[in-house]
Formats: sequence, C-alpha cells, structure tokens
Amino acid sequence: MLFKTITKENFKKMVEGLLEENEVIGPRSRDQDLEGNKIYRFLKVNSFEELEMDYTRSYSSPKNYFLPFKEDFATYRLEDNNWEQEIRYTVHPRVIIGMRACDINALLKLDQVMLKSVYPNPYYFARRQNTLIIGLDHEPLEDCFCRSMNTDTAFHGFDLFLTDIGDKYFVAINSDTAYIIINQFDAREVTEEDQERFKTVKEQIKSKFKTQVDITILPELMDLEFESEVWKKWGDKCLSCGSCAMVCPTCYCYGIEEDTNLTFTKATKRRFLYSCNLLDFAAVAGGHNFRPEAHIRLKYRYYHQFRGFVEAFNQSLCVGCNRCGKACLAGISPKAVIDDLIKTEKNEY
Ligand code: SF4
Ligand code: SF4
Repeated sequence: MLFKTITKENFKKMVEGLLEENEVIGPRSRDQDLEGNKIYRFLKVNSFEELEMDYTRSYSSPKNYFLPFKEDFATYRLEDNNWEQEIRYTVHPRVIIGMRACDINALLKLDQVMLKSVYPNPYYFARRQNTLIIGLDHEPLEDCFCRSMNTDTAFHGFDLFLTDIGDKYFVAINSDTAYIIINQFDAREVTEEDQERFKTVKEQIKSKFKTQVDITILPELMDLEFESEVWKKWGDKCLSCGSCAMVCPTCYCYGIEEDTNLTFTKATKRRFLYSCNLLDFAAVAGGHNFRPEAHIRLKYRYYHQFRGFVEAFNQSLCVGCNRCGKACLAGISPKAVIDDLIKTEKNEY
C-alpha cells in the first residue's frame, strides 16, 4: 500500500473528473428522522456539491450496488421454435465515494461467498470489477461495535481510503488505477507533519468507541446456548418483517422467481434479496415449514452471522454496524441478544 496526501480542493477536482466518465455514488441526505437527524443514503451524485462527506449513518448499506434488491438473471424468447437466451453481465463503470471501513470489510466477506466459492456469481463479479471504491474514515457512532468485530479499519477491498487531516486527506492507495488517477490531481508525498496529524486523528477515532460486544467465545456460545430462553425472549418480539436483513451489509440470502407471459413465449428469471426472518423462508412444497416460529428464524440468522460463517471462513459475517438494530421496530439488536446469551452462560440471566 502507498500513502499520499491530496488537498480538499484537488480532491474536489478529482471527483469532478470522475463524474465525467463514471456513475458516481456517494452519501446524500434524503430526509430527517423523528429527532430531526438527517437520514443518509448512498445515492447517485451529479456534482461534487451533492456529496455529504461529513455524513454520519447511512441507514441502508452500499451492498445494494453489488447485490441489488432485484436483478434479472436472464430473459428468454421463443423464436422460430428455438429459445433465445439473453444474459447481461456488463455494467457501467462506477465509483463509490465515502464507504466506511466496516462496509468495505463487509464486501470482503461477501467476496468469500460470491467470488471464491465453488460457483462464483458472475453478476456480482462484474459489478465488483467495474467499481472503484473510495473509503472514508469517520468517528464511530454511539452504537457501532465494529471495533469488537475487528472491522473498524480496512487494509484491502478499496482503491483509495481517505482520512481527513484538516485541509487535506491522508490517502491510502491500493490499486494501480487509483494511483494513476490521484497522481493527475497533484497528490503529494506524505510529510512528517502529515504523519503526526494522521496519527492524532486515528487516536481520536479509537478513543471514541463506546459500544463493545464480547465475541471471545461467541461461536461456542451459540452452540452452548442453542436451547436458551434468550431466543424465545427476543424471538417473541420479532415481527418477521425482514428489515434487518435488507439493511445489513452482509446478509445475502435470496429467492428466485420466474415470470412468463400468458403464451409461454417470453420469460424472465429474477433474483431478489430475501430474509431468513420471513415466515416462508424455510417453507417447502407440500406446505411444510422447517422454521415456523419467529424465535427459531431469529436464532438461525444469528447462527449464520456468528457461528456458521466462522466455521466456513474463520471470521464472523457481522461487521458491527448495528444497522439491523436501528432498523428493527421490535428493538432487537445484536448487542442486546449477545449480552443476554453471555449472561445466561454466567447464570446471571
Ligand atoms: S450489526 Fe446487524 S446489520 Fe450490521 S453487519 Fe451485523 S448483523 Fe448486519
Ligand atoms: S427487523 Fe427486527 S422485527 Fe424485523 S425481522 Fe429483523 S429482528 Fe425481526
């Protein structure tokens, strides 16, 4: 990895240059919550001024630019008694600006499944290949527990990563493309003063983490507390709405549907994101449902995040952003559930 600095003025010029040939996505506020706080989302930006680099929480994650809520896998047409199939993998070059370290780490976890498994996902691959990622450091929010999940810093998975050190950004450069781009905008060598400012900012960020989740024996705890009343306590509150999975940067469960026209001459195969908390997630033909109760479904979502993924890839799937906790109308959050499991194990429950 190389390090440089770029003034904020030159960064603006760089973004304006990127806007000329790419679709640029970045944090923008769209609304306000009940307390008057801005609600941010990653959206297409048309000018540098639309970017809100001081954004706090994005309610949904940039995951959906790699795994859209809905996408057509293929379309079919019957022509002269032959089926014509059309599959499109190509995507327009895209730049995502302002991704947090936890969201970049979330993508690296998705890569394990989407790119490195026995059957890689070509649609995801095309988007990953055609997207330049510019990350951005930030002070943690009250309820972030990314530090506990070891995802508060990113070393891979981005092209550029910015840390605000005043009138300029301290920039980690992680790809040849990014190196070529940033050097066109008068990126400078890092001075000793820059290094000191960078270290001070990093220390400030580190000192501001408030929420911790103890994951020391979490995978084992998931097995030990498989029958715990904790699952029923939280599961009975669960509305089975699936919002947690929709906002999560790492949930990737999906469903497939096929649309045909009435004459059976045209069809579309479509994939859509789904949630293991939804009532029919484990329903099969014949009307049987392997997970009919909300608390069982909730338990399996946590098992996937903190137990199953660890077994498969030696790391938790969760990155500690607490988007699911914020989105949940029933007040269910990973910290609350895990703290309860730990108390049970210590007989404090
Ligand atoms: S905190 Fe919730 S939303 Fe964030 S990664 Fe973990 S499970 Fe997903
Ligand atoms: S958001 Fe909350 S209520 Fe909705 S499915 Fe997830 S845990 Fe259940």
